[in-house]
Amino acid sequence: MIEELANNKDSALKVNEGIPQPPSVSPTALARLKAKKKKALKEDDYVKGILEGSRTLLSKAITMIESSLPNDHKMAQMIIEKCLPHAGKSIRIGITGVPGVGKSTFIESLGNHLTSQGHKVAVLAIDPSSQRTKGSILGDKTRMETLCNNPDAFIRPSASAGSLGGVARKTRESIVLCEASGYDIILVETVGVGQSETEVHNMVDFFLLLMLSGAGDELQGIKRGIMEMADALIVNKADGDNENRAGLAKVQYQTALHLFPPTESGWSPKVDTCSAMKMDRIANVWKIISEYKELTTENGYFNKRRQEQAIDIMFSSINDALETNFYNNSQIEEALEKAKEDILQNKVSSYIAAQRLLDSYFGNL
Ligand code: GDP
Repeated sequence: MIEELANNKDSALKVNEGIPQPPSVSPTALARLKAKKKKALKEDDYVKGILEGSRTLLSKAITMIESSLPNDHKMAQMIIEKCLPHAGKSIRIGITGVPGVGKSTFIESLGNHLTSQGHKVAVLAIDPSSQRTKGSILGDKTRMETLCNNPDAFIRPSASAGSLGGVARKTRESIVLCEASGYDIILVETVGVGQSETEVHNMVDFFLLLMLSGAGDELQGIKRGIMEMADALIVNKADGDNENRAGLAKVQYQTALHLFPPTESGWSPKVDTCSAMKMDRIANVWKIISEYKELTTENGYFNKRRQEQAIDIMFSSINDALETNFYNNSQIEEALEKAKEDILQNKVSSYIAAQRLLDSYFGNL
């Protein structure tokens, strides 16, 4: 019936023959795309791209750093090795503070200020909560919107998998690639609530703590140890009604910092206020950081610290590798389960169980 109607030239169901339509995707473009997909990039392609400032290849290489696939890991290590001689010419700045203090607003303001002065800025993040939230810091696309669209800025959300130590290693390696790619200012963000500050402090040259006025240290969840690590303490949101309070907080923090022991760098930590939202006194924060770099370059501390950090990286790499290798060993996995049961049933002490596991691991190598 339908067929009959379709063949009837007066029926609305009649299909008129039209002009042949060109394919919606150009066959030559498709062929090119397929060829490109087939030709996997070699490590030298990545290195060349990174050195030429390709953001795509930089991103892809960082994805390989973050990957848990052994082949990616191997490739990433080769890329890092070849990029290392081109890295290091930067200042690495750690930025911390409790959620809501204005870190992303501050990074956006500082980042835009720096790119307007001809700098290239890379923003990386360490997010201790990322295992749960899959990278909450910077993961939210609405954060740092203008900096995201800034051609001289490169923003990379936190790696979400692995232990804090693992994430820190990946961030360190990403720093090397960003530097090789021409970023001369590296900002590493972390939430000021836990252990991650120490990790960040160990990978940067300058550590900046953002604070709020009108809230005690306890309220801000900032531990004394973190204040002691800070090279600058910046009271944010110094605008509107809050400006006076921020000024008062500045004086209080200055007094508190005087009580801390002198720093090895010869630098006296500075306290200042700013409004990240209004981009007020952001240039002054940069002035403080520049003064720090000048002083520590002159007195040799800048290089000394970088060298110490490089040695530390070797040790933490060894620790990481040993740990991964140990826990991924199938015999150990089995023995661990057995040991846990034995400990719970008081058949063996925790120490002896640990010692036996280690003995069997090293004996098995
Ligand atoms: P983060 O969680 O530390 O990254 O903080 P955000 O940058 O997301 O800022 C938290 C809130 O504080 C947002 O609503 C911002 O608009 C606001 N904020 C950030 N900086 C300032 C500032 O300098 N002044 C004022 N008044 N508000 C700010």
